[in-house]
Amino acid sequence: MKNDIERILIDEAVIQKRLDTLASKIEDEFPAGPIVVIILLKGALVFASDLLRRIPRELSIECLNVASYHGGLESSGKVDFLDRHFPEVKGKHILLLDDILDTGRTLRAVADRLTEEGAAAVHTGVLLAKDKKRAEEVEADYIGFEINDEFVVGYGLDYKGKYRNLPYVGVLKLSAAN
Ligand code: 5GP
Ligand code: MG
Repeated sequence: MKNDIERILIDEAVIQKRLDTLASKIEDEFPAGPIVVIILLKGALVFASDLLRRIPRELSIECLNVASYHGGLESSGKVDFLDRHFPEVKGKHILLLDDILDTGRTLRAVADRLTEEGAAAVHTGVLLAKDKKRAEEVEADYIGFEINDEFVVGYGLDYKGKYRNLPYVGVLKLSAAN
């Protein structure tokens, strides 16, 4: 698995340190009261599990399956909600977590749906944000790292289902992407 990585972009210690900062920002900025955390599967799993253990307040966790990438290197442009049930969010303060902000379509579509379903407020957090023009007007409230517009894997992010368990974020070798 390691042999497929061209270079490490953000190593494990740097990620963990940054999560301390993000968690205390979230803890400071969210209004008092419980938070409903919505984790976008599967990419945000690793990020969310490390982040949430740093937030010392009452929260509940919901997961959503959305498809936007369909396993390739390019965004497909369409966001599908794959779950039969949508979590109960009416009147709730939401922290929506995704792995990476790329075109912005995923975060936009899910945040809009949460608002439609009556959420009191929707705040968004991503581990990574690509430095590029977004197809949708959306920025995350909490961003771990800004990165260049290149395809990355690790720490939850996959290529064809692989590499999610790498403890760092890295760039895939071109030879491994086929
Ligand atoms: P957006 O809707 O913002 O274009 O894309 C968000 C989704 O696309 C992410 O949740 C992620 O699944 C996928 N994605 C975008 N860029 C990358 C990348 O560089 N690497 C991987 N593994 N997935 C990406
Ligand atoms: Mg994803």
